Amino acid sequence: MYSTDLNKLFCQLAKTCPVQMLVDVPPPQASVIRATSIYKKSEHVADVVRRCPHHERTPDGDGLAPPAHLMRVEGNSRAIYKEDDVTSRHSVVVPYEAPQVGAEYTTVLYNFMCNSSCMGGMNRRPILTIITLETHDGKLLGRGSFEVRVCACPGRDRKTEESNFRKDQETKTLGKTPSANKRSLTKESTSSLSRPEGSKKAKLSTSSDEEIYTLQVRGKERFEMLKKINDSLELSDAMPPSEVDRYRQKILSKGKKEKEGQTPEPKRGKKLMVKDEKSDSD
Ligand SMILES: [Zn+2]
Repeated sequence: MYSTDLNKLFCQLAKTCPVQMLVDVPPPQASVIRATSIYKKSEHVADVVRRCPHHERTPDGDGLAPPAHLMRVEGNSRAIYKEDDVTSRHSVVVPYEAPQVGAEYTTVLYNFMCNSSCMGGMNRRPILTIITLETHDGKLLGRGSFEVRVCACPGRDRKTEESNFRKDQETKTLGKTPSANKRSLTKESTSSLSRPEGSKKAKLSTSSDEEIYTLQVRGKERFEMLKKINDSLELSDAMPPSEVDRYRQKILSKGKKEKEGQTPEPKRGKKLMVKDEKSDSD
């Protein structure tokens, strides 16, 4: 299930997740749709999202997907699994297909092959799935992203996170009474309560965010890797919320219950939800 409030997909391991791709102009011949996952938090973003050692060893392959890949495309023999030469990131690519006659969008079926809580894998670190529409030679035509949580009880976790999110929003509108900020949180996450309230705000842009820093990097390979990460972050920052909405509607329309007025996609440093720990009983 997809939460529009959180721009987050809640799903179970290896279950089918249909993602609807909507474009207003047909892309050039031989365009492709690529899906990749990255860690949401900046301290983990450099790590490659891969399956945990346990699941990697489990013989559950479809003959196409490499065992270490978290994401799979279901029911498409033209799916190609890639590992980037420079960043080692995994992605899965399918040819863009025009919607069936009478349909508005193309649907791609994705599977996530580990739980968010898998030890030695995601290890409770939240991930973002990024979907890009690219020409055959890799030129970016469109992009959409959403957070993903793979767990045993997607319905329950979605409810909990949405209600926490709403409480958080109410707290902000009601003038930030510290006592109103109390939530049923667990040990680790209570520390995030002491963070400045603004750090969880959607469109917050402090002056330090705008400051330019120069980083000296040793080695071309490492430079390319960091550059790619920075480029992705820039790209997601560069889009005004209205554009994000527009893109999301056009390129990545997920679920039939899609509503207007979504929140902009997550940015670096932003914390949508505080709790990761509590409902991780899976
Ligand atoms: Zn796993």
